[in-house]
Amino acid sequence: MLGLYLHIPFCSSICNYCNFNRGLFESGLKDRYVAALEREIRSAEGSAADTIFFGGGTPSLLEPAEIARLVTACRETFDVAPDAEITLETNPETSTPARMTGFREAGVNRVSFGVQSFREAELKRLGRIHSADRARDAVLEARAAGFDNVSLDLMMWLPQQSVADWRSNVEALIDVRPEHASLYLLELYPNAPLKEEMARAGWSLAPDDDAADMYLWSLARLAEAGYDQYEISNVARPGRASRHNVKYWEDGSWHGFGCGAHSTRGGARWKNVAATAEYVARIAAGEPVATERRELTSTVRLEEALFTGLRLTAGLDIEAVGARYGIDVWGRYGRPLQPFVDGRLLLREGPRLRLTREGMLLANEIMSVFV
Ligand code: SF4
Repeated sequence: MLGLYLHIPFCSSICNYCNFNRGLFESGLKDRYVAALEREIRSAEGSAADTIFFGGGTPSLLEPAEIARLVTACRETFDVAPDAEITLETNPETSTPARMTGFREAGVNRVSFGVQSFREAELKRLGRIHSADRARDAVLEARAAGFDNVSLDLMMWLPQQSVADWRSNVEALIDVRPEHASLYLLELYPNAPLKEEMARAGWSLAPDDDAADMYLWSLARLAEAGYDQYEISNVARPGRASRHNVKYWEDGSWHGFGCGAHSTRGGARWKNVAATAEYVARIAAGEPVATERRELTSTVRLEEALFTGLRLTAGLDIEAVGARYGIDVWGRYGRPLQPFVDGRLLLREGPRLRLTREGMLLANEIMSVFV
């Protein structure tokens, strides 16, 4: 089953750490963009799909009627399962009771709130424009609108954040009772304005060991509160893992629409032009928006299946992957992996290979064995 990804590149303000494909909201451009997106969807080759994911940017800046129009375009082009998971990434400041009801009526059945922190000082340092109370109210508005599948994103290892500060964020998240949570480490790209602000204000990051403690403590605390970790950065109540995101880690297929969207479908991969105005212009002119199209060799597909599959706590069935790609996985990669097994960072259980929690802290190093 295919996953459909729709990129919405508009934001009300630009956060000082953000490296996503996004720009400031402009009403006229937004109207043209939604029309272009609809046209790109309707021109795609249909097949069965069971997830739709509106990512951004801030997709909740669209009007509910625009979301409905795009969901309809997906349903009329693809054979979208009646019980498809339809997620809208939502920023708390864009939520109102009427908008949340409108999104629900448009067919959205999962909201993922970009909360990032429940501490006012941390939100300010990140340049976020919502308050902790706004985030709590937004979740209540989603509940009142009938959403029974809510996810929250939190970021850890923020400037000036102590282990105790982080713990209070996790406790605040548990109090809000979402079905799903994503915990990301703040990653500062080279020219992030936040880097300059940190230097100017003298803000620092907690030591690496504290970051490891934050990660390990929160997973243990969330497990106690009924959340199972299913991926390095994601936890969910039973049955509430993100069906869409799991496709990225399980060697699945997805078709991305909109500027900068990536697709992996039918053994090929491509990326759409990144600039919003250029994307709109190309669609209006009937020109292709896909660039960098390449057929995936079985070696690339194998490496990625191994690399991304290890992100899941269930790990990989190396016999099944090996049978799919016609190789002996342990025979090829066993030697460089053995030290991680000896160090209890990686477990080999029958045909399965999986990271321990400590191994997840070094995931990039371990997974680089595959590429
Ligand atoms: S709201 Fe999200 S996408 Fe927009 S600037 Fe902030 S971090 Fe980036």
